[in-house]
Amino acid sequence: MRAHPIAPPSDLLDRCGLRADECTGGTLRVTSPIDGSELARLHETPLAELPGLLDRAQAAFKIWREVPAPARGELVRLWADELRAARNDIGALITLEVGKIVEEGRGEVQEGIDICEFALGLSRQLYGRTIVSERPGHRIVEQYHPLGPVAVITAFNFPSAVFAWNAALALVCGDPVIFKPSEKAPLSGLATFKALQRAVARFGERAPDGLAQIVIGGAAHGEALVDSRAVALVSATGSTRMGRAVGPRVAARFGRRILELGGNNAMIVTPAADLDLALRAILFSAVGTAGQRCTSLRRLIVHRSVKQALLDRLLPAWASLQIGDPRAADTRVGPLIDRAAGQAMQQAITEAQAQGGRLLTGGEPMLAERFPTACYMRPAIVEMPAQTEVVQRETFAPLLYLMDYEQLDDAIALHNAVPQGLSSCIFSNDLREVERFIGASGSDCGMANVNIGPSGAEIGGAFGGEKETGGDRESGSDAWKQYMRRSTSTINHSRELPLAQGIRFD
Ligand code: NAD
Repeated sequence: MRAHPIAPPSDLLDRCGLRADECTGGTLRVTSPIDGSELARLHETPLAELPGLLDRAQAAFKIWREVPAPARGELVRLWADELRAARNDIGALITLEVGKIVEEGRGEVQEGIDICEFALGLSRQLYGRTIVSERPGHRIVEQYHPLGPVAVITAFNFPSAVFAWNAALALVCGDPVIFKPSEKAPLSGLATFKALQRAVARFGERAPDGLAQIVIGGAAHGEALVDSRAVALVSATGSTRMGRAVGPRVAARFGRRILELGGNNAMIVTPAADLDLALRAILFSAVGTAGQRCTSLRRLIVHRSVKQALLDRLLPAWASLQIGDPRAADTRVGPLIDRAAGQAMQQAITEAQAQGGRLLTGGEPMLAERFPTACYMRPAIVEMPAQTEVVQRETFAPLLYLMDYEQLDDAIALHNAVPQGLSSCIFSNDLREVERFIGASGSDCGMANVNIGPSGAEIGGAFGGEKETGGDRESGSDAWKQYMRRSTSTINHSRELPLAQGIRFD
C-alpha cells in the first residue's frame, strides 16, 4: 500500500488543537470507519448548560452587530489563515473519522478556506439598495442588518466544510454562531471550530465572549437549539427525516431556517454526449466519498442508442476501482460510515431486484477479514426497468440505478419524478437539449449542470435544492441574505406629508 503520510490519531488530534482531556473519558465514543478503532471519547455538552450558552450568544450579538462588517471580515480572513495552516491535519482527521480519501479530506478543508475568502470580500459588499418613491421629496432605502445567533447543525459527511459555509457568512453578517456537529463525526468539526477559536483569539477583544460556541451531542441537543427563541436562524444539514422534524418546530416559533436535506441526483446522457467525459463524471460522482455525498450520482438516465456504448466503457472502469483503506494513495473508494449504511445498501439492492432490477456489478461487502468491524462495499450498478419505489428514495451508499429513454421529454419527466430536488446534470453537446434541460421546463433541481457531474460544487454559487431537499440555499451568490434581516425605510425630506396611493386624510 502506497500510503499518504498521516500521523497517528493521537498526534493528529493534538496537532488539530484537541486536548487529550477533551478527547478522553466522555460518553460520546467516536470510531474510525477505516478499521472500527476508537479515536476518542468526547464529553457531551450537558443539556442544562444550553440556556447559559444561548444567553452568551445573545449578549455577543449585541456587541458583534455594532462591529463594522469590514472589520468582521478580518476575523474570517484570520480563520482562512488558520485553516490553511491546518489543512493537511484537519483533512487527515476527516479521512480517519469519515473515511474520505486523503485528496477529498484536504479538499473539504479547502472549501472552508474558499468560503472564508468569499465572506471576506462579502464583508465589504453587504449591499442594500435605494428605491425611488412615488412621493415627491421621499426616498426609500433598503438595508441589511445582522439577524441574531445562528445554530449550525451538520451531517457526518461534510463535518468541516458545512460548518465553515455557514459560520463564515454568519460572522461577517454580524451573527454569533453555535455549532452542533454530527455525533458520528464530531472531531473534524471540533478541529475546524478550534481553528476559528484561534482566529478569534488573534482578532482580539473586539470579538465578544460567546461569539462562536460548540455543542457536542446528538438529536436531543439539536432539538434544544431548534426550539430556542434565542436562535434566530437554524441551518440544519442532514436527512429528509431530520428536516421533517426540524422544519415544523422552527416554523412553530416563527424562526428562520435553512434546510439542506437529502438528494436523489441524476444524470441524463443523450446521443449528443461526449461519452468519455460522461464516463469520468459518472465515476467521480457515483463512487466518490463512497457515494456518501448529498450530491452523489444515484440515477443514470441514458438514451437507448448510446446505452451499450456507455456500458462498454463504464463496466471495465468500475471493475478497476481501488476500494480499501482511504489512506492509500491509489484508493478511490473508502469505507461507508458504519455497518448500518452497508446493510441499507444491500437492502436497497434486494428491493431493486424484487422490483425488476438486474444487478450488473458490485454490491457485495469487502475486506471483512482485514477490517472485521468496518464496512467496505463494492459499488453497485443496478439496471432498472422503471423508476420504481426504491429508486425514488435516497440510499446513502455507492449504488447507481441505470434507466434508459427514447425521447428527451420522457427523460426529463423521469428525472423530475422523485421527491428530492438537489442536483442534476445533462451530458450533451446539443445546444437545444442543454437549454431545454436548464430551462423552466427542464430539471426541477436547485442545481442543473451541463457536461459535469452533479457533485463537487464550487462555493461561488448558491447551494441547495427543491422539494424534499428543503428549498433553501447556502454558500455563495446571495445566500448571505438569509443570515441578515432586511429593513425598508421611507425617508421624507420634504415639508409635506403626502400619503401613498394618493390617499387624502385631511
Ligand atoms: P442525520 O439527519 O442523521 O443527522 C444530521 C444532523 O441532524 C446531526 O447533527 C443530528 O444530530 C441532527 N439531528 C437529527 N435529528 C434531529 C432533530 N430531530 N432535531 C435536531 N437535530 C437533529 O444525517 P446524516 O446521516 O448525518 O447525513 C446524511 C444525510 O445528510 C443524507 O441524507 C444527505 O443527503 C444529507 N446531506 C445533505 C446535504 C445538503 O447540503 N443538502 C449535505 C450533506 C448531507
